[in-house]
Amino acid sequence: MLNQDLLQQLIKTSSEPKLIEKAFEIANDAHKGQKRFSGEDYIQHPLRVAQTLNEFKLDPKTIAAGILHDVPEDTSVSLKEVEKNFGKEIAFLVDGVSKLGKLRYPKTGLEIPSIKKEPQKSIDLKVENLRKLFFAMSEDLRVVLIKLADRLDNMKTLNFVPKEKQKRIALETLEIFAPLANRLGMGEMKGTLEDMAFPYLYPEEFKWLIENVKERYEEREKYLKMVQPILIKILKEEGITSINVHQRAKHYWSLYQKLLEHDMDFEKNYDLIALRIIVDDVETCYKTLGIIHKHWKPFLGRIKDYIALPKPNGYQSLHTTVFCIDGKITEFQIRTSKMHTEAEEGICAHWARKEEIAFKTQRRKFAWVQQLRNWQKEVSGTKEFLKGLKFDFFKNRIFVFTPKGDVIDLPEGASSVDFAYVVHSEIGDKCAGAKVNGKMVPLSQPLKNGDMVEIIVGKSKKPSQKWLEFTKTNLARSNIKKWLKKESMTSH
Ligand code: MN
Repeated sequence: MLNQDLLQQLIKTSSEPKLIEKAFEIANDAHKGQKRFSGEDYIQHPLRVAQTLNEFKLDPKTIAAGILHDVPEDTSVSLKEVEKNFGKEIAFLVDGVSKLGKLRYPKTGLEIPSIKKEPQKSIDLKVENLRKLFFAMSEDLRVVLIKLADRLDNMKTLNFVPKEKQKRIALETLEIFAPLANRLGMGEMKGTLEDMAFPYLYPEEFKWLIENVKERYEEREKYLKMVQPILIKILKEEGITSINVHQRAKHYWSLYQKLLEHDMDFEKNYDLIALRIIVDDVETCYKTLGIIHKHWKPFLGRIKDYIALPKPNGYQSLHTTVFCIDGKITEFQIRTSKMHTEAEEGICAHWARKEEIAFKTQRRKFAWVQQLRNWQKEVSGTKEFLKGLKFDFFKNRIFVFTPKGDVIDLPEGASSVDFAYVVHSEIGDKCAGAKVNGKMVPLSQPLKNGDMVEIIVGKSKKPSQKWLEFTKTNLARSNIKKWLKKESMTSH
């Protein structure tokens, strides 16, 4: 699309067309004469970034900041001038993004981790820049959304970039930005970023997958096309009429990861393509699940209720795998349309519904951002910071409950002591025992998703050195260390 068309579209759809126009004029002037690696005018890139943000239905200020995001770093127009023209808020967003621009892997000695290894093992970014990322993010999550839109466009044009740069950018995308999108509940963005990075990092594996999956995809599609009208008819007979059923193919990177788990056996991947059923309300979700199970026997251990127990990033759906027509194993995902938008767009869905723009109001759902910010201030050592990052931030998360039913979000493998410190630092310090689902358990026992945890507090109880052997969160570990340090100082 010509940048004029893109621009007109942005202006036309904006509630503040004058602001968008002004942002364009200044950015266009500033980038005049600059070209992208692809040979196109530089301004095309910030305009596409703004377009993505517009699709996310973000506010005009964020879209203006998207148009301006590369101005202070790459042109003679300074951040001060941006602030003079557009005010503090837009200047903050632009500044946040340009700081993140410096988030880089070391230029030399880039090692692509083995595809089988957990990706977090290779994170070796400059720690200072990561700190900046989390700081800016905890101030205003829109900074990250602009950065993600920026990254998406850079990935789309990565083939024009010099070879030696490609791998570095792709690795950064796979290890930092895709997990970030995931933590913000942006499933579609996560999958797209991963799939775009995949061929640059593991070209042979990618080629193998494409060659091997094509026929299977086609075969599954054909089969599901046959199932679809039968399913709709069955649901209609039971009074569920307002439904949308569609096929959804798995993203390539996540499919490859699944195959690795199953010895590269396609036959064990039942969700290569799943049928997604979108209904009006939660009640109908459960009713639909019941009807499906009435007609086709469910596969044991594959019924998942992410509605009652959402994933830590907020994802909600019912999943089931059944022996469908002709006995073929088939996965269904059932959700409301609101859940569907949230699963695809994550945090952006809230903005779109104008449900409060500030991050502050999202605190509960995105409490981890605040936690991240707190401990990154406390942890001084580089190694410790990275170790914590890999564990707390990118590791799979579990949900556990307080006796009152509040949800606490923890990394996999966390213990009751970790839980206690999230509830309150004093409860952590005085933690004497724990009941999980009503039974006393050792403090070191790892918690499982859905556990209900009750901490027993002892007035004279103190943190112990031993706790460091099994605690997983930075919050718990830094509190325990702080206490031990204080004690060693008073006893000498
Ligand atoms: Mn950019």
